[in-house]
Amino acid sequence: MSTTITYQQPNEQGYYGKFGGAYIPEMLYRNVEELRTRYLEIMEEKTFQQEFRQLLKDYVGRPTPLFLATRLSKELNASLYLKREDLCHTGAHKINNTVGQILLARRLGKTRIIAETGAGQHGVATATVCALKGMQCIVYMGEKDIERQAPNVARMKMLGAEVIPATSGSKTLKDATNEAIRDWINNPTDTHYIIGSVVGPHPYPDMVARFQSVISEETRWQLKEATGSELPTHVIACVGGGSNAAGAFYHFLDEPSVQLVAVEAAGHGVNSGMSAATTQLGKPGVLHGSKSLVMQTEDGQVVEPHSISAGLDYPGIGPLHANLFDSKRGLFLSATDEEALEAAFHVTKTEGIIPALETAHAFAALKQLKLKPTDKIVLCLSGRGDKDLATYMNNMKL
Ligand SMILES: *Cc1c(COP(=O)(O)O)cnc(C)c1O
Repeated sequence: MSTTITYQQPNEQGYYGKFGGAYIPEMLYRNVEELRTRYLEIMEEKTFQQEFRQLLKDYVGRPTPLFLATRLSKELNASLYLKREDLCHTGAHKINNTVGQILLARRLGKTRIIAETGAGQHGVATATVCALKGMQCIVYMGEKDIERQAPNVARMKMLGAEVIPATSGSKTLKDATNEAIRDWINNPTDTHYIIGSVVGPHPYPDMVARFQSVISEETRWQLKEATGSELPTHVIACVGGGSNAAGAFYHFLDEPSVQLVAVEAAGHGVNSGMSAATTQLGKPGVLHGSKSLVMQTEDGQVVEPHSISAGLDYPGIGPLHANLFDSKRGLFLSATDEEALEAAFHVTKTEGIIPALETAHAFAALKQLKLKPTDKIVLCLSGRGDKDLATYMNNMKL
């Protein structure tokens, strides 16, 4: 373990400052402990790295371009570079993590993969890599979400996954997570649980951040090629659980000259009671196995979040980000549903790129930054907007 202070890596117990750790029921101890003791050694193996890098190149389509958005740059009066994760196979950054975890699961001798999904994006990314590797795939999904997200349910089934409805509670993501955990407890030897963001008990946040860190690894050399310098002045990304932001920030976390900007979903407005701006509304608490900032009532009940984008509709945030907020290393902004929609339409017309609704929040927050003409901003374009077309159609002003 390094003794210098770094925002990249948690300590031995999985803490980033005050946040992180592994708060798990006794019955999960064996599974999580196996992962904790093996993940770094496996990820550092030469053959693992070779196979991971090859799949990122030939299957995911990496490196993704770093694109200078000239028309938006002119409006901002600064240089805006877009890191094109929307061009990844399956349409978003999530596949970087599921490719990594499927290879890790195989090296742990697992034959069965489980995952939970809300809108279905992580479920599709998981079902995709299971098809690629011929692994059994079970995706837990709230009954209500199954109704709302029919195209993604169809994709998962076509890819060979079994989609099991979670029928308890509000029949959404939180209930699907409970079902997945129950499954893992009952199948400790043959099953790996693929978590889709930098959340969950240690070592998940660190493991997922490392798999996603390929985003900033590429950004450094691409920016050097384009501008002569590896360092931008700002990196900006939207934050649900925080995996695309963690990947985009990772190799800049310990570069103090780079301003890191995380954008949360304000929903109808931070103080409207219909929001998902966790750092603004949350307090320290335990959610899904780690200590972080959580939207909760006085007596600790988790508050239902709201965002127009399913990927940001989460009442917590990964511990790496809670520490960036707490230490002020990161600047946390938010954008409302309406601002995100407006930004999505504007970006589409100005650059010919239809962004995911999640990413649109990052675009919407650009005008909150105080910029100079010499500034170089990298925005993580986490995904494409095809999945959001129904929402866009309902809000189009023709
Ligand atoms: C899932 C998703 C997000 C939010 O998840 P993070 O873990 O915060 O990155 C953002 N953008 C897109 C396109 C997504 O699919």
